[in-house]
Amino acid sequence: MSDLVTVENLHKSFGGLQVLRGMSFGVPEGEMRVLLGPNGCGKSTFLKTMIGLHRPSAGEIRLAGERIDGLHPHEIARLGVSTKLQVPSVFRELSVYQNIRIAVQRETGRDARSRNMVIDETLDMIGLITQAGNRAGNLSHGHQQWLEIGMAIASQPRILLLDEPTAGMTPEETQQTAQIVLRLNRQKGMTVIIVEHDMAFVSALDAPILVLNQGSIFFEGTLRQVRTHQGVKEIYFGSRA
Ligand code: ADP
Ligand code: MG
Repeated sequence: MSDLVTVENLHKSFGGLQVLRGMSFGVPEGEMRVLLGPNGCGKSTFLKTMIGLHRPSAGEIRLAGERIDGLHPHEIARLGVSTKLQVPSVFRELSVYQNIRIAVQRETGRDARSRNMVIDETLDMIGLITQAGNRAGNLSHGHQQWLEIGMAIASQPRILLLDEPTAGMTPEETQQTAQIVLRLNRQKGMTVIIVEHDMAFVSALDAPILVLNQGSIFFEGTLRQVRTHQGVKEIYFGSRA
């Protein structure tokens, strides 16, 4: 099967700072990848480049074979790339339901009935049906993160990018988040790339791991392989390994 996402020799510099220096990997449609790497190694920069917030200095990003690097963020979103970044994006004064409705309405060409179906399905996916009428600002931090995932999937994207979705969550919320992501991937067939460092979460996802170091993919394998790989231990786990 050919890859849904292909990243080829991607470079991104900010002035003299070379962050991505020849990053290459592919993700087949319907699969999930976890992107690991030390703080400041460029994980968020990669995600932002993929959604068009940064223009690559060199290299290519392709979606289903078509180049998307250099396209406008709206265009990339329209092609089915959706993201939850590290910045909050919920409308705190609105209800959970209204937040999801806004995200669904960003899509054009749906009639009201199918829109309502997508809203209900999305609330179900993120486990917030019983909180649909609650003000978003009153949700716990973890539930707000789920709402943000809901807003990201409301457009029914082909690929979902998540940047540290469990940051600040309790261990229980973290495990529930893994279940949400697994449902999206396994039931909905959504392709997912996740940046994460919570190892309990990564372990629950049970997905192939890409280790980013010094601007390129240093190692690709299972969590077990990553944990026992001497070079990865040194750069990533350090003395905690
Ligand atoms: P990570 O997500 O892996 O922790 P980032 O991608 O946020 O790392 O950052 C990688 C490096 O790029 C850091 O040194 C950071 O300071 C730098 N950086 C990120 N965004 C910008 C920007 N817009 N302008 C200049 N430098 C940036
Ligand atoms: Mg980051």
